[in-house]
Amino acid sequence: MIRKGIRITSLVLVFAALIFVILRNNVRLQSTSFLKKYTSEELSYFSEVGFGDSDRLTKWNKKIEVQILPPFQKADSLEVDKIIDELRPLIGKTDIVWVKEKGNVLINFPRTAEEFNSHITADLHQEPKGYASSNLDLNGNLRKVDIYIIPHLNGKGRWETLRHELCHAVGLMGHSKRRFQQPHLLGITAFNSYDVYETDLDLPSSLPAAERRAIALLYEDSLPPNLARKNFIQVIGEINSIH
Ligand SMILES: [Zn+2]
Repeated sequence: MIRKGIRITSLVLVFAALIFVILRNNVRLQSTSFLKKYTSEELSYFSEVGFGDSDRLTKWNKKIEVQILPPFQKADSLEVDKIIDELRPLIGKTDIVWVKEKGNVLINFPRTAEEFNSHITADLHQEPKGYASSNLDLNGNLRKVDIYIIPHLNGKGRWETLRHELCHAVGLMGHSKRRFQQPHLLGITAFNSYDVYETDLDLPSSLPAAERRAIALLYEDSLPPNLARKNFIQVIGEINSIH
């Protein structure tokens, strides 16, 4: 009797998993006209940085509540405030606010390198300055993100790392391996001087145009979460062949 119950439960689970896989693989773009607002370079950059290891789109469908956890410097909280203001106009109907408790994007400043490293669960090929770990629901909607910033990182690098991880936190999960002449947070900027990067904390920092456009594209209503990278690449290939 019990064994039969288990067999039926397993069958139901297998069936549910199958339905889920079929539905997820059927996520398609209903319309592509909104993509005309973007240049082919912007679409191409998005095909790299908009998709992480899962090769599927992830985004928020509820208010993003950013909380910064102690110990942090006053300058950190001022910069996070600035980044929230930069992100707000880019994320469509979704809102982003700063909260003192129960946030869904938590920014941590570990005190030691050991503590920082203990939070890195992914197998990374290089030593990171920051790390973002995210939780999603089955539909590809973000539910919670934890950000960690390496200790003793100062200068412009601290602000760029914060912005880089917050780009991941809003849903740009990938990176580009390409080298650019203009600032790109998720790609490689060719002219970065490491001295300036680590020493000048007063250098103005803001989200580069490449990331601003990628976030705006991610939050287009017509772009559904769970859309596969290969589907997106196929659509932009069709658009490019028409022009
Ligand atoms: Zn990254």
